Amino acid sequence: MRGPSEIVTRTEGPLILGGGLAGSMAALELARAGRSVTLLEKSTGPHDKVCGEFLSRESLLYFERHRIDPGALGGMPIDTVRLVTSKFSRESALPFAAWSLTRRTLDEEMLRLAAQSGVQVVRGTCVTALERQRDRWSVSFQNDEAMQADNLFLATGKHNLPGWTRPAGRQSDLVAFKMYYRLTARQHQELGRAVELVLFPGGYAGLQPVENGVVNLCLLIQSNHLKHTGAPWAGVLQHVLRHSPHLEKRLGGAAPLLQKPLAASRIPYGHLETRQEDGLWRIGDQAAVIPSFCGDGMAIALHSGALAAAHFLQGSSAPVYQIRLYHQLRRRMGAATRLSQVLVGFPLAAQLLRLFPYLLPAIALMTRIPNKALAAVERMEG
Ligand SMILES: Cc1cc2nc3c(=O)[nH]c(=O)nc-3n(C[C@H](O)[C@H](O)[C@H](O)COP(=O)(O)OP(=O)(O)OC[C@H]3O[C@@H](n4cnc5c(N)ncnc54)[C@H](O)[C@@H]3O)c2cc1C
Repeated sequence: MRGPSEIVTRTEGPLILGGGLAGSMAALELARAGRSVTLLEKSTGPHDKVCGEFLSRESLLYFERHRIDPGALGGMPIDTVRLVTSKFSRESALPFAAWSLTRRTLDEEMLRLAAQSGVQVVRGTCVTALERQRDRWSVSFQNDEAMQADNLFLATGKHNLPGWTRPAGRQSDLVAFKMYYRLTARQHQELGRAVELVLFPGGYAGLQPVENGVVNLCLLIQSNHLKHTGAPWAGVLQHVLRHSPHLEKRLGGAAPLLQKPLAASRIPYGHLETRQEDGLWRIGDQAAVIPSFCGDGMAIALHSGALAAAHFLQGSSAPVYQIRLYHQLRRRMGAATRLSQVLVGFPLAAQLLRLFPYLLPAIALMTRIPNKALAAVERMEG
């Protein structure tokens, strides 16, 4: 409901809520097609995000379209994946080129490009309410201000806007932590250009180098394990290191670089949006939340942003886009979620992963955005 003192602005073109990768990508694509676009983002400037920061081949394809070069931004090439359990370690060359880059750098670059392309980027604006009023969307934010738009792209990430709840997802019992470290020179060298996936009871961790000689440790643990680990971060780390001599070695003598880890809970992993009747353009994690071990969530954010923009520019509707995205991702999302459940829930199944180097191409194929789906965006624009 509108308050009597509320200042309401009407935007001409589409309004995008959230300036992560999905929101920025949609904004860029729309602006470069000549549309007037407004994007509201709650953060006021560069900030860290809970994310493993692994950029898959699919993400890189979208960067190429917009001439974003992770290397020029200080990112690190990643060419190896190492799977480590308490019993064994297996290593394989990645079947595709990959990079790592902090979200602090990447998200800012995307927003900068969007602004440079003519998007009106409004920072420091936290949306507090969204409602449909007859034929238009009405968005409220702090200071009794509101905005109205005919078309709205919802890109606010994994958590819900007040009043816009989604199903919990098929694996929503994981809690995520992220910490940056500076390893000893020897451990940094041993890590090399690898992303290490480390399994431990109740969860898994990803470790990889990012820019400036720093490494990112991002881990997920089942919430019921937190009851036994005691104090959130210290207890979790103790639990992980007790069960992973490998990580204990890597982090020996390492300096933590954040005062406290970033954390997120109630992540709706496995959620794939099926609702279309309200006409909202849901993109990024608002549309699909793939388990983190796949390292493809950012690619889905970029892909869904671009796909939604392409549909919008063709005069198609949000429901048509939403159904298309659903069919593109359904099988991959199902396979990725089942695999994630196995990784954290069934330690004996980890024995199968001794075959990891042979399984990797099949796992990659089963869990990544299909090539056909990526090509669909190009075709729509062509
Ligand atoms: C533990 C973990 C590890 C991951 N590791 C990887 C990985 O290695 N590789 C990979 O590809 N993916 C990874 N992902 C997934 C990836 O981080 C997400 O899929 C991706 O960030 C989704 O992008 P988005 O734009 O939808 O959301 P976000 O990047 O979360 O952006 C949403 C934006 O909306 C803004 N916002 C939120 N609420 C409001 C509001 N009310 N008003 C205004 N603005 C608002 C936020 O400030 C934010 O900037 C990981 C995720 C997790 C949880």
